[in-house]
Amino acid sequence: MTKKNTLKIKKIGVLTSGGDSPGMNAAIRSVVRSASYYGIECCGIRLGYEGLINGNVVEMGPRSVKNLINRGGTELKSARSAEFRTVEGRQKAAETVKKYGIDALVVIGGDGSFTGGMIFQQEQGVPFIGIPGTIDNDIFGTDYTLGYDTALNTAVEAIDKIRDTATSHNRVFFVEVMGRDAGFIALNSGIATGALDILIPEVRDNIEDLFATFENAQKNGKSSSIVVVAEGEKLGGVYDLAKFTKMKYPEFDVRVTVLGHIQRGGTPTVADRVLASRLGLAAVEGLMEGKSNVMAGIQSNKVVFTPIEEAIKKQNEIDKDLIKLADILAI
Ligand code: ATP
Repeated sequence: MTKKNTLKIKKIGVLTSGGDSPGMNAAIRSVVRSASYYGIECCGIRLGYEGLINGNVVEMGPRSVKNLINRGGTELKSARSAEFRTVEGRQKAAETVKKYGIDALVVIGGDGSFTGGMIFQQEQGVPFIGIPGTIDNDIFGTDYTLGYDTALNTAVEAIDKIRDTATSHNRVFFVEVMGRDAGFIALNSGIATGALDILIPEVRDNIEDLFATFENAQKNGKSSSIVVVAEGEKLGGVYDLAKFTKMKYPEFDVRVTVLGHIQRGGTPTVADRVLASRLGLAAVEGLMEGKSNVMAGIQSNKVVFTPIEEAIKKQNEIDKDLIKLADILAI
C-alpha cells in the first residue's frame, strides 16, 4: 500500500557517515528510488557530515543510482567530521540544508552518526531517520545491520581457507576478526567454521580455560585448532595469545592471521541487499509520515522504528545459546 506524504516533504538528502559497510550503496539506491516513486526529490551529500558542512551536494534521480545495488563501499563516500561536533560546524551544515531546500535527511551509519543527526535535529530542526550501517551488528533496535552478513561471509570464506593449511600442518591458528566492542562476527563465523574456541569482548575469558581447551582437543585427537578472536576481546589480542600459547606449549606450531579490512569490502550478500532495500524505503515512508529521530531496523523480519536515543544507548545482546552451541560442538 502506498503512503501519504502527510508532511509534504519535497526533498530528502541522503548521506553515509562513519565506517563504510557493504550494502550502503543498495540503501542509497533504495532511498533515491523510493523518494522518486513518491514524487520527492532527492540529493546525495558526499563525505557524510563533512559534505553537509562544505555544500558537497549532488542531485540524484533513479538513473543516477544504476549499477549500484551490487557494489561494496559507498558511492557517496563516507567521512568522520570533527567540525560537525561543533555548533559552528552544524550551523554551516544548516546553511547547506537551507540552500538546497532539503526538508529531511536519511543518515546511513553507526551510533556516532545517529548522535550527530539527533543533535542536528534538536539544534537546527532538520528531521532525520537513521539506517544502521556497520559490519559489527552492534546497534540496538535491529536484528541485523547493513554489511554484517557480507562481513560474516567474507570472514567464513577466509577461515575456511586457513583451516585447510591448519589441518595439513597440525597448526594452531589465532584468527582475528573485526568487532572492537561486539563479538557478533567472531561468534557466528566461529560457529560456521567449527572453531575450537571463540573469544569475544562480551565474555570474560581466561587463558587457563583456553589452555584446557587445547589439552582437551589433543586428548580428543584433533589435528588442528582454530581460535577465532574478536578485535576487542579482553585477554590482550591475538599476538599476545599466540605468545602465551607458544610459551606454554613450545611444541605447538602457532600462527596468527588478522583478517582486517577485507571484512569491510566486497559485493554485498543477498541478505544485505534486501535489508538495505527494505530500510531505504522504510526511511522515506517514515519521513513522509512525520517520523523523525528514529532508526529504521528489522526485527523478526518486520521493519520497525526505534527512537534514536534508544538505538544509541542500549546494547544488542549476544545470544547466550549461541555461546553454548559453540562450546558443545567444539568437543
Ligand atoms: P562506526 O560504527 O563505523 O564507528 P559511526 O557512525 O559510529 O560509525 P563515528 O565516527 O562515531 O562513526 O561518527 C561519525 C560522525 O558522526 C562523526 O565523525 C561526527 O561527524 C558525527 N558525530 C558523532 N558523534 C557526534 C556528536 N556527539 N555530535 C555531533 N556529531 C557527532
